[in-house]
This record gives sequence, C-alpha cells and structure tokens, in this order.
Amino acid sequence: MRCGVKFVTPDEIEGAVAAGLPQAVEDLKRLVAIPSVAFPGHPEEPVHAAAAATEELLRSAGLPHVRQIPVDGSFPAVYAEAPAPPGAPTVLLYAHYDVQPAGDPLLWRTPAFEPTEIDGALYGRGAADDKSGVISHVAALRVFQGRFPVGVKIIIEGQEEYAGERLEAFVERNPELLRADAIIVADTGNPHVDDPAVTTSLRGMGAFTVEVRTLSESLHSGTFGGAAPDALAALIRMLAALHDDNGDIRVPGLPRGVFLGAGPSEEEFRKGAGVLDGVSLVGSGSLADRLWASYAITVTGLDVPTVAGAINAVQPVARARVTVRVPPAADPRTAVESVVDFLNQVAPWGVKVSFSDYVAGSGFLADSGGAARTALNDAMERAYGRPPRDVGTGGSIPLVSTLAKQFPAASILLFGAEDDDASIHAPNERVDLAELRRNILAEALFLQRYGAATA
Ligand SMILES: [Zn+2]
Repeated sequence: MRCGVKFVTPDEIEGAVAAGLPQAVEDLKRLVAIPSVAFPGHPEEPVHAAAAATEELLRSAGLPHVRQIPVDGSFPAVYAEAPAPPGAPTVLLYAHYDVQPAGDPLLWRTPAFEPTEIDGALYGRGAADDKSGVISHVAALRVFQGRFPVGVKIIIEGQEEYAGERLEAFVERNPELLRADAIIVADTGNPHVDDPAVTTSLRGMGAFTVEVRTLSESLHSGTFGGAAPDALAALIRMLAALHDDNGDIRVPGLPRGVFLGAGPSEEEFRKGAGVLDGVSLVGSGSLADRLWASYAITVTGLDVPTVAGAINAVQPVARARVTVRVPPAADPRTAVESVVDFLNQVAPWGVKVSFSDYVAGSGFLADSGGAARTALNDAMERAYGRPPRDVGTGGSIPLVSTLAKQFPAASILLFGAEDDDASIHAPNERVDLAELRRNILAEALFLQRYGAATA
C-alpha cells in the first residue's frame, strides 16, 4: 500500500459508486440542461456555461489543479491534473462537453434540453454523447476522494462535434500536458446495454470532390441531345463503376479486410440501420469485415440541377463529393489516390475530369494487450459480470489517431456509456442509467487495478 493513496477494495469501490450515483445523475441533468451547441449560428454563452460547469465538477472530484485552457479557433478545453503516486502510471481521461444541435424539436418526445428520466434512462441532447463521458470521469474519480491510485490528467474538449480538429493541433503543440501511460476516451459505448465491449478499431477517412466538364455551356436537350456529351451522364457512369452489382468495390488496390471478432447479426444491423423490407444489404464478407475492416465508398453530395429546377438541357458540368472509409491500418491518402486513378480511367468520351478539396484522416487500431487492457478487462468483468469483447467502429475519431501518433507507447482505451441504441446525434438521445453506473464502476475499478498492477 502506497503512502497517501487511499486503499480501496473492489467492494468498497462498488459501494462508493452506488452511493455516488444519485449525485452523478443530478450532475448529468445539470449538464444536459445547458444547450452547449458549439456550432456556428448557435449562442456561445451556453457553451461557456458548460465549460464552467465542467470546471466545477472536476473540482468536486478532488482534482487540485483545474483550469480552462484556450484552444486556437475553438472553445476552451477544461483541463485538470493530479500527480501520480510514486511509481504509479498516469492516465489521461478524455470526453467533450459540447453537443450536437437538437434538430427538429417535433421529433423529440421530451424537450431536448430538459433532461427527463423515464424508465431508468435519462433523455436529452448530450445525455450520452458525451456528457455521460464527462460524468463517468467525475464520478469514477470521486470514489478516491482526492487520493488517486494513478496520476490523473483530464481534458474535456469544448468543440468536438463541429469540425472537431482543433484539439488535434493542440495535442501536437502541447504533448507534455497530455502525455500519459494510458488514455481513456469516453466517447463510445457497447453494442447493447449490458454487453461490455472495448472499441479497438476505428476506420480512417478520405474525401474529395470530382468535377466533370464536357461543354462550354448547357445545350437544349432536344436540339443537341443524342450527340452532345452530357456531363451528368458521364459522372453517373463513373460513380456507378465504383461498385459491382453486389455492391463490392471494384477499385483495384482496395481489398476487403477481415475483423477478428464478432460484429452485429444481419437482423440487428437491418433493424439498427432501418433497411426497408425487401431491400438487400450490399457487399461481401461478414458485417464486421464490411463495417470495421474494409473500404467503403459513398457519394455524399452531387451538384446537379434539382428536379424542381429542371429545364430541358444537356449539362456541361457535374460535381460529386466522394468519401472513402479506410480500414484502421490503411493509409487514407493512398486509398483516395486509388479511387481518383480509377475514376480517371473509367471516365468516358474523353471528358475533362478534375479533383479538389481533399481531406484525409487516419484510423486507429489498438494494441492487443498490455497492463492497461488487462486491468480494463478485469474491471469490466467485475462491473458487467463478463469480460469485454473487441468491437470496431466504422466511423472515425480523428483525435484518437492523433493521440496514437503522438503517444505511441500509451494504451488507448475506448469505452463508455453510449450504447448503440442511445440515439446520439438523433432525436430522443438517452443514456441508460444502469449502464452509466456500470461504466463509472468499470472506470473506477480500472484506475485502482491499473495503479496497483504497475505499482
Ligand atoms: Zn461524441
């Protein structure tokens, strides 16, 4: 037992988490009531109010040094740290206090920013994403009453949901502030409530705009149609060539990947995705392979005349935005190059093709073991009654790849209370409060075990 460190047994931790839960839920309600939407066109005052509330919560968790730190071009992050006991590792805790806009209020059964408890769940924008992450950190830390078993650094971001890449630059410029042996990113969740999982893989992403030009100006489709090369028709042919009849990618150099672990069943996936009866899924391989370990190409925008604005014309120009999801370990730039080369090759009729507005972000593949993951497995097994499985996420969290690049020796652990039915970014977002308790318990047990294992 280390001097100055409060020695707590798993039973005591469990008791403390249960005893602290009502306070944690109250704190979560207070945060959810603040419409901290850090998007242009939304008032800034509530975002700053959420930063202040977060600061206060971190103080209440017994962290000695809490402050807001400016992030260039963004809202402040809230940062705190507590030194490591001698010989103990340091853990960085991440979450964000901003939220998605509520969207259409008519689609909400309860008002988005009036947190409402119904049947053991708390409804409201941000209840899961990611104010549940903020509260999980706070409640897990409170268990130790200021005598933490590990060094603690905590950063709560203020503008993750809107073009959230500013913190990445901050991480690159302030590595010492955030350096840690293990990093908990509390902005994910389990496939189902009470189905423990650790997210070990995230796909990367690339995107670009393709433009096709065929004519100096639009032409009457009666006078010229049938001989004049239509830019929209050319673009449609090019985009259609990206996939075969089964929906598998035809672009050379983008092979199908394999995910080691189970993904959703077809039935679960169809339900979750709202796929209409009689419409088949696309692509080959298991769903985990397709969603978490393979490339996916999606046309996300088209600049073409609208139906309402249609005139009888052959189009001289057409544009599309194309995104390429990339397997965790693959290079998004190479993938985008392959797709661009392919589109050039399949362009018909000698049309003029150009590309612009490239973006690329890497994915993430967690290391498989280490003391941190072992401690987390034990902690989750105790909190959930069974050990966690590995799952992937088809989406990207740019910050995670930045952290992985900046701190290659750190174990990055992605878990949280945002289960797949939490309706994040959608109306009627909710967090299951029993899930929140288990997540807090898992985090507190992790901190204790990880500190003890490496002491
Ligand atoms: Zn989030």
